[in-house]
Amino acid sequence: MKFTPEKPPLTGETLDSLTERLRAQGEPAFRGKQILEWLYKKRARSWEQMTNLPKPLRSWLDETFDLLPASLVLKKQSEDVTDKLLLELRDRSLIETVIIRAPQEGVGLDHSRKTICISTQVGCAMGCVFCASGLEGLKRDLSAGEIVAQLLQVCYREDERTPRARAELASFDNIVVMGMGEPLANYDALLRALHIVNADWGLGVGARRITISTSGLVPKILKLAEEKLGFRLAISLHGATDEVREKIMPVNKAFPLEKLIPAVRTFSEKHGRMVTLEFILIDGVNDSLEQAQKLRDIARDLHAHVNLIPYNTVEGLPWKRPSITRQERFADILRDARVSVTLRREKGHDIDAACGQLRLKTEKERLIGESVVGEAVNR
Ligand code: SAH
Ligand code: SF4
Repeated sequence: MKFTPEKPPLTGETLDSLTERLRAQGEPAFRGKQILEWLYKKRARSWEQMTNLPKPLRSWLDETFDLLPASLVLKKQSEDVTDKLLLELRDRSLIETVIIRAPQEGVGLDHSRKTICISTQVGCAMGCVFCASGLEGLKRDLSAGEIVAQLLQVCYREDERTPRARAELASFDNIVVMGMGEPLANYDALLRALHIVNADWGLGVGARRITISTSGLVPKILKLAEEKLGFRLAISLHGATDEVREKIMPVNKAFPLEKLIPAVRTFSEKHGRMVTLEFILIDGVNDSLEQAQKLRDIARDLHAHVNLIPYNTVEGLPWKRPSITRQERFADILRDARVSVTLRREKGHDIDAACGQLRLKTEKERLIGESVVGEAVNR
């Protein structure tokens, strides 16, 4: 399930791996740092812009690396606070990267906090019955370079909107790995990408500003707990008992709650930080008061934060969100027990919904023509 491009992307190189390649070419050791500075700090978008590199080196780089393996096909700014970037990869696969702006009092939208939602796979193999990303199965994993490229594209976009403060590296505040795909099923590429994003020679985004969301791959959660970088973790729970959870998330058969919950506890103890339990509210499926009570108990036990997300309808799927009264009653059971809980309502604030249901039909529709892709994205 891998795609091998003609040239490896520069965005997939670490300082070490790049320096190594350059050294083999007889280049001095400082070149690697210089090139990555052009890429991540000065935002050079072509080799020609890297003006302090000798011309023959620039030609070699051009022959050897793909500077950025994802091109912007379309950007769609909605009336609210989310921006969607539709990106095309070298094999013509399409992925979406979402920018969510949280308005802050007294400042315009351009100065608001920005959270970026990134994808890790084209499609998804996990088969959760409510999710658009998995409807057509997994097409392929993204490479580390493709994951990083989404964030650079966001930087380009944001730099155009607001000139950067000099010392600023990334043009955003937080990253949530909640786009298309199951991040922990593409573990190595994800970790390499996040290492690049985190490094001071990369985008310099602190691990605490990065949240990885998983449907619950237990061995990988335990592996992640051992990593040096302390990323934040969110678990897509969506069912507070095995009976409910396995109806909507096939992953629960391999990793039922009795395995998942101890793994989350291990992670949370190791990193000393609250884990988030995501719980989509789907009418008549997981929104009973018994589910709320069970969820309350799990959250208390894990000392976790609960993020309740009213389900967003997906074309072709039968599920819908419960009424507001029912959502509130569900939330109250958690609030009454002093569980830290958010029930997202405002359209643009809904990070999870914004990126939880990435475009299903774009691939197909593109076959008919670019204008139709526009429609698909606007829908
Ligand atoms: N595969 C990972 C990360 C991507 S999904 C995971 O499942 O955690 C990001 C979040 O969006 C998940 O919690 C997912 O369950 C949720 N989601 C998927 N479809 C949704 C929908 N139609 N409405 C609301 N949230 C949805
Ligand atoms: Fe995959 Fe997450 Fe969607 Fe489940 S919810 S199908 S794991 S993207």
